[in-house]
Amino acid sequence: MSRTVYVNGEYVPEEEAKISVFDRGFLFADGVYEVTSVLDGKLVDFAGHMTRLDRSLNELGMKRPVDDAQMEAIHRELIVQNELEEGMIYLQVTRGAADRDFAYPSEDTPPSLVLFTQSKPLVDTAASQNGIKVAFVDDIRWGRRDIKTVQLLAPSMCKMAAKAQGADDAWMVEEEHVTEGTSNNAYIVTKSGTIVTRNLSNSILHGITRAAVLRLAAESQMKVEERPFTPEEAKDAAEAFVTAASSFVQPVVEIDGVTLGDGKPGPIAKRLREIYIAEARAQAI
Ligand code: PLP
Repeated sequence: MSRTVYVNGEYVPEEEAKISVFDRGFLFADGVYEVTSVLDGKLVDFAGHMTRLDRSLNELGMKRPVDDAQMEAIHRELIVQNELEEGMIYLQVTRGAADRDFAYPSEDTPPSLVLFTQSKPLVDTAASQNGIKVAFVDDIRWGRRDIKTVQLLAPSMCKMAAKAQGADDAWMVEEEHVTEGTSNNAYIVTKSGTIVTRNLSNSILHGITRAAVLRLAAESQMKVEERPFTPEEAKDAAEAFVTAASSFVQPVVEIDGVTLGDGKPGPIAKRLREIYIAEARAQAI
């Protein structure tokens, strides 16, 4: 079935959606994005995604094309028109179309706004039941990973390098410490039961799911340390997991060829996934 997508003020069949070849998103990856998950036809953590979108736009001196209320209305219209029950809504803002020049175009260049839906099971997935395998790959990305830009070739290359090693995803490594997964934040659980995940900085994306999961872990009296961890610590962990809007809490069962525990999703990852999904359903709007 052809989707209805949103492009610069219009809802159109995906085959008819058009963006200029001069769009700076296309020529310079001069754009930012958000991915909001949808459960039961409702938006999960929408306010958090809008706050991070504002931050990304501000960091790049880029204009916001529509306000929060209009953005929410567009999300809802796409859910209705595409009968989306479970999946994601992708949103991209670029600096718009202008003659090709490294300097930003004039302030009155209208930004481009594109949104589309992706229907996909998020709760009942084989990956969440069996866990995934990750492999270490050098982090070759730029220095402002806290801005959610569309320049995703480096993480794509990292993911392909991990797949070539038989893993499902990469855990990227910089200066002997894990930064994050190619499209998720990375966590280990030590043998003494402490959850360890890298602290926020320009080195990682400030995950919306990460914020919710750390809050829920604290509320459940779980021990959490926010600090960089090494590949050796990861391979010695009792369990591990990743978080993202598109996969919630996803258990990891193998790290760089080393099986964790009995090779099945660990109890803390499973518990956090359950709590997160229950809370996401309850809070979705
Ligand atoms: N880290 C990276 C590099 C990502 O690309 C993503 C999501 O796309 C995340 C972390 C997780 O962020 P969120 O929980 O907001 O989806």
